[in-house]
Amino acid sequence: MSELVLSSRAAVPAAAEDLQSDRWSFGQDSDDLMLSHDMGIGTTCLRLTSTQAATIRALGAATECVRITARATRRVELVLVGKKTGIGLWGGLASRSDDAEGVMAALQKALGFAEQIVSEVNSLVVIIDRNHKVRRFNRLCEEGSGMREADLIGIDAHKLFLPASHQAEARAHIASFFEKGESYETSTPVDSLLGQRQIQWRNKLIRGSADEDTYVVCSGIDITEELAGKRRLYEQATKDRVTRLPNGLASRQRLEELVDLGLPVAFMTLVVLNYRQLRGMLGLTQSERLMKQVADALVQAVPADWMVSRAGGPEFQLQADGTRSDAELVAVGDEILSALAKTFMVAGVQVHLQAAVGVARFPDHAVTADDLEMAADAAMHAAMTRSRSGLQLYESRMREELAEGLWLDSQLREALAREQLELWYQPKVSLVDGTVETVEALIRWNHPEIGYIAPDRFIPRAEATGIIVEIGRWVMQAAARQAKSWADMGLSLRVSVNVSAKQVAHDPFLIDALKAAHDHCDGFIDVELTESSFLEDGLAARAFIESSRALGCGVHLDDFGAGYSSLGQLAGLDLTAVKLDRSFIAGGGDSPKRHALLTAISSLAKGLGLEVIAEGVETEEMADVLRRLGVQYAQGWLYSKALPAEVLASWLSQQRPSTAAMSDDLRAPVRTPGSTANSGEIAPHPTLQM
Ligand code: C2E
Ligand code: MG
Ligand code: MG
Repeated sequence: MSELVLSSRAAVPAAAEDLQSDRWSFGQDSDDLMLSHDMGIGTTCLRLTSTQAATIRALGAATECVRITARATRRVELVLVGKKTGIGLWGGLASRSDDAEGVMAALQKALGFAEQIVSEVNSLVVIIDRNHKVRRFNRLCEEGSGMREADLIGIDAHKLFLPASHQAEARAHIASFFEKGESYETSTPVDSLLGQRQIQWRNKLIRGSADEDTYVVCSGIDITEELAGKRRLYEQATKDRVTRLPNGLASRQRLEELVDLGLPVAFMTLVVLNYRQLRGMLGLTQSERLMKQVADALVQAVPADWMVSRAGGPEFQLQADGTRSDAELVAVGDEILSALAKTFMVAGVQVHLQAAVGVARFPDHAVTADDLEMAADAAMHAAMTRSRSGLQLYESRMREELAEGLWLDSQLREALAREQLELWYQPKVSLVDGTVETVEALIRWNHPEIGYIAPDRFIPRAEATGIIVEIGRWVMQAAARQAKSWADMGLSLRVSVNVSAKQVAHDPFLIDALKAAHDHCDGFIDVELTESSFLEDGLAARAFIESSRALGCGVHLDDFGAGYSSLGQLAGLDLTAVKLDRSFIAGGGDSPKRHALLTAISSLAKGLGLEVIAEGVETEEMADVLRRLGVQYAQGWLYSKALPAEVLASWLSQQRPSTAAMSDDLRAPVRTPGSTANSGEIAPHPTLQM
């Protein structure tokens, strides 16, 4: 309680001497303290000194007591109980200090108001004394707990509504709090009539004059809903909406945690390669349903300690901590791939997936979480383009390959748009009479900065990313245009185009493109398919062969004997020719085994009514062997490398008149750069030796 000595103005009304629980008020603009008698009988005005005025104006929002001494007709000691009441306004109740009842009544009124606030405030308030006993338990606490404040005063606060598991911790907190006295916040679960609620407590020490007057005021707010809301938001941010799997963010968070702890982690990136085509075919909703099935299959396929997440679209990530051997990872990867190899049903449609999985390990292959994801990505890209099983463990060279692959992807799109692709043509020469009636169109990419890029470098990449579909259509158009242009010159050359297994499986308009090409050049177009088409999608491959044959196109089985050739398969296909892979031919040697194989294949092919074309013929010796075996056609550097269209025309014109069915004007000798075709040295473009 502050004490002020008040000196009244000259004329202080006598009523000031009879003050008893009057209201007092004081303003910002005047140093006059107004005392108004209850019942509105009158007002007394006391002039304060500037110090006294400043003390009153220092009163805040909490009720305080100020003792003042006024000199009116006689000395009067007043007790002002009050606080700030408005903007530039202070007020409360005033009593004479010797009027104990009046002072008490004023204090009671003020304190009662404060106590009532504690009771009614819209947050939980529990006041605890030094012995951890309850001193206040406000109305909100009563409502939430179903207990009455009156019954709780003096009992152990921790036992009140904290679960047993949290009592010891809370006791320790409060004890240290009484020692240190710093406010702190804590969040605890609390049993209530509504079940367990999470309460955020703000604990503050209130010190009285004596030690036993020190209390902790715990004010709490129920944050159960807020936490649930936050949890929902977190779930939304970290869960994939469709599959309910953790998303890429959640996967990344977990990975970072493990890596930060220095724990070994195995990480896999999986991509559904034909997702884009499936989405085009099924639409977004159904393809998302398919991804849900994929997610379920993945979760089933991997051991329980693997975290499966969907990074978005067709991409999933799998991770597990602990040291894992290559063999173990390959086993998990194989399980995954065989789970995805089954037939999926979406909206009554049977769907087959192609997936690629890249696997990397921390710390063996990467130093950070980011690095590990990149390593697994690099392995996955290698799996996309190389690994037949669709599973690839990380190897250090793959990062460069990935970088190159990504570069190729972007450049290849430009290549199409900017007409950097070219078709070159390699003749197929009759081993009977040396004539050339057919050429194979082989794609070349003339990159403006690095020159010619061979198809083996970019076709696998184009197949992996799906851009092969567009490239394939371009090839058909360009080949048809060239065949027509030759025909217009009087040079009737059939052109065979290579059709990738991916085109057959994923381009729904492939046959339309072939028909358009066929029509454009009056049917001078054939196709070459590899056996991989039957592995990729056997049904689609058969359908494409049938449709091509119906158009009148020849269908050549390319690279026969290179991989998983099935002689039996040939019988059921409407092919026109097989092309013996150059691995059969290369080296030129005439080993008895090779001889026996070539003999068997060529007689089988002949028996089936198929022409046989030998690829990669580089020597006369080999040509002779093939001729004796009855192989009808040969293609290879012995005759010519692939040539740009106009160079090929010149080359043809220089062959013996019988080598090409061409008009006289084309037969005029044309010098071509390095046109020593028989040595296989034709290199019309200095940057490319094909
Ligand atoms: P392929 O269809 O088997 O083509 C034959 C490949 O053997 C060509 O390689 C050709 O240049 C090469 N070659 C021909 N004769 C000889 C020889 O005597 N010795 C040797 N060592 N090689 C010879 P190229 O042009 O590099 O094409 C490689 C592969 O790229 C092709 O193999 C084909 O699978 C693919 N490819 C080329 N053009 C296209 C295309 O337009 N579309 C598709 N989808 N693939 C294509
Ligand atoms: Mg070919
Ligand atoms: Mg071939």
